[in-house]
Amino acid sequence: MPAKIIDGKMRGSPRSPTHCSLSSSPIYLIKMPSKIIDGKKIADKILNGLKSKVKNMKQKPGLALVLVGDNPASEIYVNFKEKTCREVGFYCERFNLDKNISEMDLLNLINNLNQKTNIHGILVQLPLPKQIDEHLIVDSILPHKDVDGFTPVSLGNLISENAILVPATARAVMHLIESTGTNIEGKSAVVVGRSNIVGKPVAMMLLEKNATVTICHSRTRNLAGHSRKADILVVAVGKPGLITKEMVKEGAVVIDVGINRVNGKVVGDVDFENAKDAAGFITPVPGGVGPMTIAMLMENTLKAMELAQKILK
Ligand code: NAD
Repeated sequence: MPAKIIDGKMRGSPRSPTHCSLSSSPIYLIKMPSKIIDGKKIADKILNGLKSKVKNMKQKPGLALVLVGDNPASEIYVNFKEKTCREVGFYCERFNLDKNISEMDLLNLINNLNQKTNIHGILVQLPLPKQIDEHLIVDSILPHKDVDGFTPVSLGNLISENAILVPATARAVMHLIESTGTNIEGKSAVVVGRSNIVGKPVAMMLLEKNATVTICHSRTRNLAGHSRKADILVVAVGKPGLITKEMVKEGAVVIDVGINRVNGKVVGDVDFENAKDAAGFITPVPGGVGPMTIAMLMENTLKAMELAQKILK
């Protein structure tokens, strides 16, 4: 963000402006603080909207949450999803399955959920234990119930610009960028991370909005050289402090998807405290992408119910 020029009345400002003497009237240059994108607030607004909409519906959107094993992080995510689902007035079924469950038993459960008319969305929390083929399980979810947007059909639809159910985190990222009023078209966007569930879908969505997109990953040489050119920087890696202030272009929109636990605290991939001085807009962790992802999952569940109603007509 370019520094704003203000007049001499700001003399003595606590922000310690830089004094520039031009002819007779002094002007002061103040570096504007970057704007922190409040993902929680935006998510709450969306969830309240969903709550009012669902209140008057005869049939409620139904979400099945499947948790396999006892991964503590997965348990926390599923707890949040279940809690939100109930708060907005959706129907919710949760399955806590033993970590030794067989692939066949899990496939049978998905198959049953595929048939149920009161379940519109099926979410299997990843990662799954080693004995289970994740691709096989995800692929067994009917595409119109794939509220995570991870099946090949959903990802294929996204790539062919026919997005139906899009991964919630990618939708969250786009929503947060758009909330800043940034016009994405023609901007240089750098996505750090190339996973199927975050990096690639985000890159596709930015491309669809006519950004010029670069995808960086673990083998990228000179990450800073790329990130410093980004008007929009999305980071989804899982490495605390990976992106420092020096790697952020002045005024950039920085979206931090990372969730890391450091000394009992949850932090992102961006060195937030310092990078916020360079960024024009930046998401905090927690309170940025996380709550928005859950809000987008709820929207996807409602959409899945609408899809089912169309299919059954
Ligand atoms: P992943 O492990 O599947 O992918 C990580 C990516 O980072 C890979 O593509 C890898 O190439 C890249 N990478 C690794 N080291 C790198 C480096 N030094 N420089 C550049 N790239 C590097 O992870 P994921 O599932 O995409 O998740 C990424 C992060 O986002 C994790 O911290 C995860 O917990 C978080 N996440 C958050 C949400 C949310 O709702 N906020 C949702 C999903 C994932």
